[in-house]
Amino acid sequence: MRSPPAANQHSIDTKAINMEQRIEFTREMKRDYTILIPNMLPVHLKLIKSVFELHGYRMELLENEGPEVVEAGLKYVHNDTCYPALLCIGQFISALQSGKYDVHRTALIITQTGGGCRASNYIFLLRKALKKAGLGFVPVISLNPLGMEKNSGFRITLTLFLQAMMMILYADVLMCLKNQVEPYEDEAETCARLMESWAARLTEQFRRDPRLAALRFRANLGRIARDFDRVPHTPAEKIQVGIVGEIYVKYSQLANNHLERFLLSQGCEVHVPGLMGFLLNALDHNIDDVNLYGGSRLKKAGVQVVMRWADHIERVIARSIRDNCRLEPPAPYRVTRRKLGGVLGVGCKMGEGWLLTAEMCELIDSGVPNIVCVQPFGCLPNHIAGKGTIRALREKYPSANIVPIDYDPGATRVNQENRLKLMLSVAREKVGGAGLG
Ligand code: SF4
Repeated sequence: MRSPPAANQHSIDTKAINMEQRIEFTREMKRDYTILIPNMLPVHLKLIKSVFELHGYRMELLENEGPEVVEAGLKYVHNDTCYPALLCIGQFISALQSGKYDVHRTALIITQTGGGCRASNYIFLLRKALKKAGLGFVPVISLNPLGMEKNSGFRITLTLFLQAMMMILYADVLMCLKNQVEPYEDEAETCARLMESWAARLTEQFRRDPRLAALRFRANLGRIARDFDRVPHTPAEKIQVGIVGEIYVKYSQLANNHLERFLLSQGCEVHVPGLMGFLLNALDHNIDDVNLYGGSRLKKAGVQVVMRWADHIERVIARSIRDNCRLEPPAPYRVTRRKLGGVLGVGCKMGEGWLLTAEMCELIDSGVPNIVCVQPFGCLPNHIAGKGTIRALREKYPSANIVPIDYDPGATRVNQENRLKLMLSVAREKVGGAGLG
């Protein structure tokens, strides 16, 4: 793995670069390059970005949307590739071509899961697309938990890792509480402003003293819970709708055509499972693998220790929220796993795998029978664990009202919204709720 040939990174001779080499993100680049982040998880990435900035990185969360993103994706990515990859890469290239950034001082960062699905390979597709677009000199950083690619200018230290994990927990809580209050708020944007103010307060705490920030975890959770509980609101009957599916399309408004906003406009209270469950699920696979196929018992024991610790943290979160407000905490991973109840085998783990099915079970059991299952084009894992299990779920839960919605470059928003409206009208009929919405 090699660094770019030029000593001065600002005057890179793009033609001189051997395109077969990976462009390393060097220590010098850390000083004055802006790292662009794709808008995969708007709430979580905003908080994680602030942690990276505290560690000296200059980062920007991309907000560019519109047809040019899809067009760039279609132009530079093979059209057999799954829709999230196409959008992610399209968003990067469209941003780089927009003229807003000095492309010789810009780097990109993308996750590499290390699992069996294509999310491990986005990075190679991205580098290929960059070369095709004449931007092969732009460094791409792999964000992965397994040390798959190393860059001298980008290092996840233990402090940074723990702070980022804590921000993910906060983001799950903020998202969960906001979703329960926002549909009823008296003044629009109150919850959005509260989210912003907590993001700033948490970042400031980490900046002042990271150790103190960790000690304040419980107290912060209590304050967040009370703040959301105090938002002036008017009770009303709303349709309870859960959103599950492929992780990128589930969270990214770019990918799901502002699904949450649309559901809110239709008189719904939206429930979106958190990110921590997805991360714990990836860890938990190590235990299931040993149980199913054999392997290192030592590794299994190590993962079990981490899982027990994570379970303890989730219990702390649940208690802190329940003790301080009337709102519900995010569903703990251990509870969601239990809800699967044999609908799908735990060996089904590509993409979201069985977790997607378990999340639907958990939502239905907790009083959210209406579910939108977002299905991106080209995603076999989620078609199996999502669409493929709907029949079994309907047999298990006759009240379930699940609609799979396809997302691809050709799918129109009108079509998607019409299908959603159909699902909502079934929901209204089921509760006989003429007054709903
Ligand atoms: S889960 Fe599906 S959409 Fe996501 S990277 Fe894997 S194949 Fe693509």
